[in-house]
Amino acid sequence: WSVETVAVVTGANRGIGFEIVRQLAGHGVTVILTSREASAGIEASSVLQELGLSVAFHQLDVLDDSSIKEFCEWVKEQYGGIDILVNNAGVNFNLGSENSVEFARMVVDTNYYAIKKVTKAMIPLIRPSQAGGRIVNVSSRLGRVNRIENEELRAKLNDLETLSEELIDGMMSKFLEQVEDGSWESGGWPLTNTDYSVSKLGVNCYTRLLAKEMADNRGEGEKIFVNCYCPGWVKTAMTGWAGTISAEDGADTGVWLALLPDQAITGKFFAERREIGF
Ligand code: NDP
Repeated sequence: WSVETVAVVTGANRGIGFEIVRQLAGHGVTVILTSREASAGIEASSVLQELGLSVAFHQLDVLDDSSIKEFCEWVKEQYGGIDILVNNAGVNFNLGSENSVEFARMVVDTNYYAIKKVTKAMIPLIRPSQAGGRIVNVSSRLGRVNRIENEELRAKLNDLETLSEELIDGMMSKFLEQVEDGSWESGGWPLTNTDYSVSKLGVNCYTRLLAKEMADNRGEGEKIFVNCYCPGWVKTAMTGWAGTISAEDGADTGVWLALLPDQAITGKFFAERREIGF
């Protein structure tokens, strides 16, 4: 890997995202560290620049369409394109008793819909290469399909023939409707970390779907490999520092996936560098 290889990491001013930037840059890659708060991102990137790493900064709020657009224009102008996209930005309000309709919406919007938006905006910027472009989505084991009760829905989500964006979006809308009318508890959704789990279920399903699209619809040398992973239970602000592993260890599988040698691993879910079931 060389400084010619360009990676983008979302939500990278702290936690796992920051570590992914540090480790990717440590492999010689040029990394664009992005954050929604410019001041936090500038500070984080200057820490890495002082270590001699090739790290640039640009503001990116994954919930803000104009921020995504402006970021893509800047990337195009500055670098011409990118090779690696790591969708890391995420929120979780399921700690303690912070549950509300507004939080559920925010979690689904940030963790699921925003990943789709950022990814769709950035795919045209991913350069063709023999090694293949890379998209890594930071997800969670909490989003495994077997955590939902509805057998028919599980079967549809598990089958690439029936899995579709409409199906995943429809599931998100149904969940949010039930949160709004107070009926979600009998909806068969995961009963712990509910909205976070549903959002990550969306990420996992979208990863599989996009990987299939990228494999089917792009020519040789234009492939993009798309995978997701669970970092484990990580000591970051998100867990109130209650995790069992460091952010450095939580970043490891994501960095490994982003830099996998030239082999077409795509549409898979990983933890600790091993494939796990969706
Ligand atoms: P942190 O809370 O430390 O970091 C989350 C990052 O996402 C922050 O930089 C935050 O920015 C950013 N973010 C949130 N909303 C937006 C937005 N709208 N636009 C841009 N950035 C945004 O948590 P982690 O490092 O632990 O989480 C990173 C990823 O790992 C998440 O996707 C999370 O779901 C996933 N994960 C974490 C686990 C854990 O145990 N920690 C377990 C499984 C998955 P800001 O500083 O401005 O809030």
